[in-house]
Amino acid sequence: MSRRSLIATLTAGAGAVAVGATPAQARENAQEPEASRAPLRADGHTTRLVLLGTAGGPPWWPNSNREGISSALVVGDRYYVIDAGDGVGRQLRKARLGSWQNDLGGPLDKLAGVFLTHLHSDHIVDLNNLLTEGLSNGIPRADLPIPLIGPGNRGALPPLFGPDPTPPVVAPENPTPGTREMWEAMVRAYATDFNDRARDSRKPVPDQFVDARDIVLPSWATDDPNGAPAPDMAPVPVYEDDHIRVTGTLVDHAPVFPALAYRFDTEDGSVVFSGDTAPCDNLVRLARDADVLVHEVIDRTWPESMFPEPRTPAQEASLHHLLNAHTTVEDVGPVAERAGVRTLVLSHLVPGNRPDSVWREARHGFSGRLLIGHDLDEVGIGERRR
Ligand SMILES: [Zn+2]
Repeated sequence: MSRRSLIATLTAGAGAVAVGATPAQARENAQEPEASRAPLRADGHTTRLVLLGTAGGPPWWPNSNREGISSALVVGDRYYVIDAGDGVGRQLRKARLGSWQNDLGGPLDKLAGVFLTHLHSDHIVDLNNLLTEGLSNGIPRADLPIPLIGPGNRGALPPLFGPDPTPPVVAPENPTPGTREMWEAMVRAYATDFNDRARDSRKPVPDQFVDARDIVLPSWATDDPNGAPAPDMAPVPVYEDDHIRVTGTLVDHAPVFPALAYRFDTEDGSVVFSGDTAPCDNLVRLARDADVLVHEVIDRTWPESMFPEPRTPAQEASLHHLLNAHTTVEDVGPVAERAGVRTLVLSHLVPGNRPDSVWREARHGFSGRLLIGHDLDEVGIGERRR
C-alpha cells in the first residue's frame, strides 16, 4: 500500500484524508497486546451500568477483545441500550441480560428502549441485527413497542473537507436521514424477511414492535448543522417512563450533527453517556454531579503516528480535524472534574487495542474514581439492594 494512499473515514470521528501507516508502523503502534481481565460485577445492584462493547471506530482492531461501542443501563427488571455497535446482540447474552439462557425468549424480552447518540456506523451498525434477528431473541414482548430514539435529519450535507474532487452524493433525494427515517429505510431493506416472519411465523411487523422517534431540539440550535461547535444549550427532555428520565444535549463531534450526549436519572442515581465529542461545555452541564460519566477517549499518539513529523499543512489540518472531534486521554479527566462526577468510565476507546497503561493516564486532573472500561464490566449505581 502506498504511503500516500487514501484512508476514508479513518476512525469514528471526522472523515479525514490521511496518509496511511505502513504495516510495520501499525505493528509497532499496537505495542503489547491488550490485556484482558475478568469483567467487573455489580451483583446486588438493581440499577447498574453494563459495558457491552468498548471499542470506538469502524476498524476491526487487531489484537483486541473489544466489541463495538454499546452500553446497557439496567434499571430493576428492564434495561436500556445506548448505541448499537458491532456485536451488541451476542454481548447482551454474555452480559446475562433478560432471559439470556433461553434459545428463543431472550435476552431482548427485557429491552425497554434503544438510544442512539449519533448515526456514525460504529454506533448503529448492529441496530438492524438487534431489531431483525431480535424477533427470534426475545421480541415480541408484552409491553411493545420498544422506543428507538436518536438524532433527527441533519438537514444539510457536511462541508467538503480537503481538496477537490467533490464526491458524488449518496441518496441525493434525502442524503442525511435521521433516526426515524433510517429505521424506515431498514424496514424496507429487510421487508422480505419481515413479511416472511409475519406471514409464516406470525411475528409482529416492525410498526408493532418499534416506535422510532427523532429527538426534538430547539430550532435555533439546529438551524446551522455546519456551524460547529454546537451552540451552548441547556439539556432538553428526551424520554421518560416510570423507571428513568432521560435528558440530552448537543455535543461537539463535527461534522456529525446532531451528535448527542444523554443523561439517565434513576431512583438510584445518574449515568451520563458522552457519545462522541471533543471537550464540550454542554456535556459538562449535562453531567453536573452525576454518579457515573461514560466518556469516549482517543490516544492522540495513534493519529499522530499516521501523520509523522514533519507534517505538511494539509497533514496538520487532517490531524486536527480528527482530534477536534474527540477527547484525548489528557483532556478527559479535566472534563469529568469540571462536571464533578464521582466515577469516570472510559469507553469508546480509540484505538481499541492499547494497553490499560495508556488509558490510565486519564487519572491526571480528575479526583474521582477512574475505571478503564472493558467489555461486560458492570458498575453498580446507588446502594446494593439485595
Ligand atoms: Zn464513534
